[in-house]
Amino acid sequence: MRITKKEWDAFIQGGGALKEGLDDAARSDPIRQVPAAAFRMHSDIKALSKLRTTAADGNDPFVPEFIDVFFAYLTDSPDAALALRDAHTNAAHRSEPVDKFLGPLTPDQIKALHASREKFFGTPASPKPLEDAVSNAKAVLDEAFKKAFELLKQHIPEAIPVASEVDSSAPGTTFNEKAPHIMRNLIRDFGFTENQAAGILGNLGHETGGFTLFQELRPRSGRGGFGWAQWTGGRRLEFEKFCRDNGFDQKSDEGNYGFLRHEMKNTSERKVVDALKATTTLEKAVEAFERVFERAGVVALTSRITWGRRALAAFRAPPTAGTGGGVAGGAGGTVVQQLESLIAANKIRFDEPRLKQELLRANSGLKISPKLQALVLKLVALVKPTEHLRISSLVRASAGHHGAGRAVDIGNQEIARDFLPQFATPAKVAALGIDELIYNAGGLDAARPQKFNFNDGAPFPRFDDRTMADHLDHIHVSVKA
Ligand SMILES: [Zn+2]
Repeated sequence: MRITKKEWDAFIQGGGALKEGLDDAARSDPIRQVPAAAFRMHSDIKALSKLRTTAADGNDPFVPEFIDVFFAYLTDSPDAALALRDAHTNAAHRSEPVDKFLGPLTPDQIKALHASREKFFGTPASPKPLEDAVSNAKAVLDEAFKKAFELLKQHIPEAIPVASEVDSSAPGTTFNEKAPHIMRNLIRDFGFTENQAAGILGNLGHETGGFTLFQELRPRSGRGGFGWAQWTGGRRLEFEKFCRDNGFDQKSDEGNYGFLRHEMKNTSERKVVDALKATTTLEKAVEAFERVFERAGVVALTSRITWGRRALAAFRAPPTAGTGGGVAGGAGGTVVQQLESLIAANKIRFDEPRLKQELLRANSGLKISPKLQALVLKLVALVKPTEHLRISSLVRASAGHHGAGRAVDIGNQEIARDFLPQFATPAKVAALGIDELIYNAGGLDAARPQKFNFNDGAPFPRFDDRTMADHLDHIHVSVKA
């Protein structure tokens, strides 16, 4: 850890609750430097956002990317980071020397930058091309994220975001959605108890970061592990052959569950079944499956048990109405309070500030119906952790559902692919009290642009051309009351 005196002083000055009880002497303590580093990043992000957000942006401020924050750190200047960002958007600039785009820095600062960060910026005599500076910085960032992810996976797996690239035709894409389904299959196929099945899921969750990783990140040798159980060596080759022979994608649930079952029924690995059946607790089941079946290089039993507990909890949780998990800020409170905390967390955004008042039913004039308000809360829960819901219209002075305060337009239609399949079904539409659902999904499925559409609560793939043309850039949802 390398916190400079200047950074530490800024932290002690402005670090709020984070710096409580810390003084100058604490700077030499690596652990105490962590909040100081976080504060530095936080300050840079704020500065970058402030530089780029105009009054017209309202409550949708500029959010810098990690590369911008990193450049703000490297150059010690948020201004310079934005200058590099802007230059890099122009392909013609990328082969030019990076110095050309460090305008916000003084000549002395540029000189000092070359002296301390030659790897990224080259030397004064031979500055790197802009493209090299950016791609080097990105490579360093990627490597740092990979290392951080490995450490998280090992020590605090529950902190790993569950945005996965798993086959989306599977029942659910997150660990909490997939684990109960896989457990039911294991119980059906092998007669395991809940604890025994959860013991297997604990291992699979650990190996794949909760089904977010198929390929082992940093294999010690060879091609590394692949698939749910991170099969290596000969077992990996068998897995690949099994998928080939049966026509399964190697990332599919069918392929992975099929091979797991095949190994546990038809190969020497079947000894794990008896070993598991001799266990009576989750912890023992996790340990037995690791020892007999995974035989992992890195055991990390604590992490495996943590994933096992998550699987068991998800398996035992009562089914909820269409949501795959909790909502940030949905811990309690009235609908309005929950919406307010989601707005504060940027999970709900608005094209215009007045829409926020309308959603909270704090506007003058016609208010949206309480059922529509409650529906928005339920819909946000279906948005992936990395995404948000952007409202582009609520109340309108017109006939129809908007004029009655019963319709919402969702402007960030790019979430449609993951978002709509979760509730555009007759059962979910009925449970949510939805009347109309209109979206032109031609960009996702050219043959069935009306596949998600409902009218009067029933599938309705017959909206006219004009309506379909109007719903290319937003998703319209209305409630019955
Ligand atoms: Zn609409």
